Amino acid sequence: MPELPEVETIARALAPGLTGRVVTGADVPDATVLAGPADRAAFVAAAAGRVIETVGRRAKLLCITLGPRPQVVGDGPLILALHLKMTGRFHIAPSAHAPPAHARLLLHLADGNALVFSDLRRFGTARLLPPEALAAWKFYASLGPEPWDMTPEAFETALCRKTTRIKAAILDQTVIAGIGNIYADESLFAARIRPDTPAKALTPARRRKLLAAIQAVIAKAIAAGGSTIRDYRTPDGVEGGFQHQFTVYGKACQPCPVCGETLVSIKVAGRTSTFCPQCQQ
Ligand SMILES: [Zn+2]
Repeated sequence: MPELPEVETIARALAPGLTGRVVTGADVPDATVLAGPADRAAFVAAAAGRVIETVGRRAKLLCITLGPRPQVVGDGPLILALHLKMTGRFHIAPSAHAPPAHARLLLHLADGNALVFSDLRRFGTARLLPPEALAAWKFYASLGPEPWDMTPEAFETALCRKTTRIKAAILDQTVIAGIGNIYADESLFAARIRPDTPAKALTPARRRKLLAAIQAVIAKAIAAGGSTIRDYRTPDGVEGGFQHQFTVYGKACQPCPVCGETLVSIKVAGRTSTFCPQCQQ
């Protein structure tokens, strides 16, 4: 599933082609993508006639702000919040082109292009909501801070409340937003912490080291355009590059890049977790 660096890469790549463009209409070939409004005609009517103001991200959600319609008195902005889940992809293509086989949602733009959301496995979702309704959405409201907005003090407080293993704690989107299995394993290795350590057992110094490791790993992954394991592609159709910089993720039975010990894999919080038994204590 795309994590923070992949969705950030997508948002940055889409922004130049979308920002300032007028949405002239929408197509919803697969209405099951709509989580709100769930009605195809209502979605199309709500989206059309708006200018795309920003393309951004919150946690693993791509968030596109559509400005108020000037012709509608008292109209307010809407935010299109898209969750890519397993196989969601975006690209920009001429509106006149036939949409790809797994297209689920298209926003047509006045410049003749369309933003196409395709999704082979169909777990992705789209919500088009006023900002206040998005903020009130239970999932959205529960999200923890972005890694760079997290202070060491807030991170310590959040972890002190957790009765889980540390890896489960940093995968918990209400603790810190955007971290999935890849960046949890990579960050724990960078901080030299075993993934099955009880969150509460970490000393304040080790928690600070972990937060710094998360921030550094996420920044490096964004700089590399994210990680492609299977399905993730940027809007230009290319793979990310951070998978070539993995230290431990997916490398069970290979030597540790630091000490040469064989990396092992265990289940933590139901997720495969790879670590070095020598370096990570
Ligand atoms: Zn090692």
